[in-house]
Amino acid sequence: MKTLIKGGRILDPAQNYDKVANLLIEDGKIVCVTDEDLPADRVIDASGRMVTPGFIDIHMHEDPYDEKTGEMKQDISKSMLLMGVTTAIGGNCGDNYADPRAYLDHIDECGNCMNLGLLVGHTWTRETSGGMDKYAPVDDATIAKMEALAKSCLEAGCMGVSFGVKYVPGTRMEEMTRLAALCTPSGRLVTSHVRNDVSRVFAAVKEMDDLAKATGCRVQISHIGSMGGYGQMKQLLKDVESYKAGGTDIMCDCYPYTAFSTFIGSTTYDPENYAEYNADYSAILMSTGKYAGQRCTKEIYDWERANAPEDITVGFLMVEEDVDMALRHPLVMLGSDGLRHGAQGHPRAAGAFPRYIAEYIRTGKVGLMEGIAKMTSLPAERLGLAKKGSFKPGNDADVVIFDYENIRDTATFEQPALVPEGIDYVLIGGEIAAKDGEIVNAHLGRSVRWEG
Ligand SMILES: [Zn+2]
Repeated sequence: MKTLIKGGRILDPAQNYDKVANLLIEDGKIVCVTDEDLPADRVIDASGRMVTPGFIDIHMHEDPYDEKTGEMKQDISKSMLLMGVTTAIGGNCGDNYADPRAYLDHIDECGNCMNLGLLVGHTWTRETSGGMDKYAPVDDATIAKMEALAKSCLEAGCMGVSFGVKYVPGTRMEEMTRLAALCTPSGRLVTSHVRNDVSRVFAAVKEMDDLAKATGCRVQISHIGSMGGYGQMKQLLKDVESYKAGGTDIMCDCYPYTAFSTFIGSTTYDPENYAEYNADYSAILMSTGKYAGQRCTKEIYDWERANAPEDITVGFLMVEEDVDMALRHPLVMLGSDGLRHGAQGHPRAAGAFPRYIAEYIRTGKVGLMEGIAKMTSLPAERLGLAKKGSFKPGNDADVVIFDYENIRDTATFEQPALVPEGIDYVLIGGEIAAKDGEIVNAHLGRSVRWEG
């Protein structure tokens, strides 16, 4: 089966290629980018459109699946696909929805909207090994169990280890080094939602540099905008640069919004932590539960924390200038941090990628080649995905075809699952997965496992 994507503006940052040409695909793989009008079984007219490698989301949170029927919920996955993401990485911030070994197998059995790789989450290994108290340290026997569990998940193909230290304040350096060290021999990534934000973010990012120095692992600061986007970004990015200059393999990701999203019961909202934001309760929007759609008051906050800790909130607390600064920085790539309960939650799961093109690349805040690299080749390189993120011959034929002048996100905090405009086609493995904002095939995605 040969497909020719004809006459589009092909943009491939990994090869520094930007030209109107044709893209030939055969049996799920890229054959070549060519000026020739080669014969094919199927021709997709891309004239007037931009053609890029499928977007890679280095930071999202995987969907749940029905424990009884095994059916994937695919709420977030559908949104991912419809915004052009062909490969996403879940298991972030220390959390796994289920045992990542089983989850990856499940994806391969059922298919998924987009390809999915997983990190093995520190918090998940901790809880699975009996460390249920997030505020308390775990003993050595528990750490040994966590280590064995993480090792087994890495052997099953997890792409690295994630931490969500902010959410598990009892985490000691010892458990971090033991898990991170497992990634060093293969060069897999260690990501973290770092221990603290706002004024304490500097020490928290330094802790990741210490971890890298202690173990030789490669580190990724997750959603740096929501960690240091409250007036700290300028200094924080200087710190990251200095760690890099000092030999640490460090990068960051960021989503293009000035509001974060997390559960009301998380440590983010522990009174001493919330006080750091220097804001009143009205900065918090309840996204799910009894008070969905309402801004918090002291009464709602207290009730939610006591009775519905799993309800999702959005916190309108970050500074736009800081988020912009992060997204322009060469050591920062795009990551959606997509997280939602059904159709409720933050719009980033449905809008982050088109929003970034519309509001950062198209406006010139970020250069075109550099901007597209942050959503294709840069995350592919970071994750060791040799066959993705570019149109090199033999690569997986994951492709997005979109109207560069008109692409835009439409998802809002009120309606966070709305489909973006301006994306004509999303191809996964050479097959059409989505067309004109609708899903054509929700089962083309497979597990992505470490191959390095
Ligand atoms: Zn996080």
